[in-house]
This record gives sequence, structure tokens and C-alpha cells, in this order.
Amino acid sequence: MLPEAEINRVLVVTAHPDDVDFGAAGSVALFVDKGVEVTYLLVTDGDAGGNERTLDNSGMAELRRTEQRTAAKAVGVTDVRFLGYKDGLVVPSIELRRDISRVIRQVRPDLVITHHPDRNYLNVAPSHPDHRAVGGSALDAVYPDARNPYAFPELVLEEGLEAWTVREVWLTGGSAPNHWVDVTEAMDRKLAALQSHVSQVAHVEGFVDFVKTRFAAWADQAGFPSGHYAEAFQVVPTG
Ligand SMILES: [Zn+2]
Repeated sequence: MLPEAEINRVLVVTAHPDDVDFGAAGSVALFVDKGVEVTYLLVTDGDAGGNERTLDNSGMAELRRTEQRTAAKAVGVTDVRFLGYKDGLVVPSIELRRDISRVIRQVRPDLVITHHPDRNYLNVAPSHPDHRAVGGSALDAVYPDARNPYAFPELVLEEGLEAWTVREVWLTGGSAPNHWVDVTEAMDRKLAALQSHVSQVAHVEGFVDFVKTRFAAWADQAGFPSGHYAEAFQVVPTG
């Protein structure tokens, strides 16, 4: 694995508002504590989810963006970017690979965190089609696109964005994690981030208990002491 001291910038690429907060906000908070620069890139605005149907589509998109910015602040992240793809309709595409490659070259992260692109047969929730499409396209952007100066030459010629090699990827939502981060000291901030998505979680009864139970189970699987919480990742070396 990449030594912690060599992780100076992290880019998190997700499909929807709240994905990063479920999968990785505790780990993000700990990175921020160490002075790591973290950027969020959201492919959609999440405007096809939630229960608040009194808003029209454009109002929902803006509400979701605002909630994600608030959630980001709860863990110390202020750089939040949106690509504006349609929620529920994301497919792996050359266009999406180019759009993620552009941000990789702008941010120049050491580590990218994104969705696992494979279907998880132990639990359907992490395998939303948008998640698989974003995870697959983000991995394609990491290798080969962002590091290949001849991929999307317009990024160099028109935008001055030189090739960049991401050295490691952490995948969320897979069925075979191999890295667990003890997020116990950041659990309050992770919960605050999750609860910032008011339009998605305010109506969910027992939400805090649900989250605590789920992340305590990861800690248990990792062999951390009881009362601890963990986030789980599959680490992919990409250097
Ligand atoms: Zn999602």
C-alpha cells in the first residue's frame, strides 16, 4: 500500500450526493486532520432519489448539491465539484472517462476513492448501476486515460492539463474488502455529514443506529476492539 506520508491529495469520485458520506467520510475526516487536501467529484446531482416530491427536478438538484457541500464541510472538505450527469442514467462512457480524467489532471491526486465497479452479490445496495458505471469509468480514467498524454489530447492542447499518474485507488462497496480504516474518532463527523443530507435521511427512522451497527460490523470484521467503527475498502495499486 501507498505509505500514508506519501498521500498528500485525495480525489473522491462518486455517483450521488451522500455516497461519499456512507462509504468514506470517516476516512476523509482523518485525512483532513493530517493536512491532506481532499476533493469531491460527484457525477450526478442525485435528483432522481429521495422522498421530497414537491420540488421540481431543478430545485431537487440544487438542494442535493447544497446538502453535499454542507456534508463535506462537516468533515473539513470545501472543494466539491459536480459533473451534472443525469441521476439513474449513468453508463460507462468515453465522455465520462474524459470528464473524470480532466479532474484527475486538475487535482493531481495520489489516491482516488471511488465505487467498486463489480456487482456485490452479498448486498445489492452498493451496486446501483450508477455506482458501477462511475467506478468503472473512474478506474479507466486512472488507468490508462489520465496518465496517457495521447488520451483526450484536447485536455493538453486546449486546457493545458498534463498527464497525471494516480498511484492507488480505494474501492467502496465491494464484496471483498482488504483494508479497514478505524474511524471511531471521526464517527461523530461522519454522522453529521450523513445527516446533512436532510432530504434523503430525515425521514429514516433509527438512522443513527443503522449507521453505527453497520460500521461497527466492519470494525468487528477488521478485528478492531469492540465499540470501534471502521470503513472498508478494496485497495488497488495503480502506480
Ligand atoms: Zn449512490
